[in-house]
Amino acid sequence: MSSKKPLTVKCPTCGKKLYWNELEKFKPFCSERCKLIDLGEWAMESHRIPGESELGESEDSNDSFFH
Ligand SMILES: [Zn+2]
Repeated sequence: MSSKKPLTVKCPTCGKKLYWNELEKFKPFCSERCKLIDLGEWAMESHRIPGESELGESEDSNDSFFH
């Protein structure tokens, strides 16, 4: 009589389903990344978004960098 169903939870950050077990060390998050996002530490990475530099301000420094 062991009909244990694995408990599943949804990652609060991305909504991905994951199993609530020992293997999920970042639970309730699906991954370390999602955990960091939720903690706000992901902001440290977010100024590396590609495309932002197209806005111009750092054009000059980029230019001299490439020469
Ligand atoms: Zn996630």
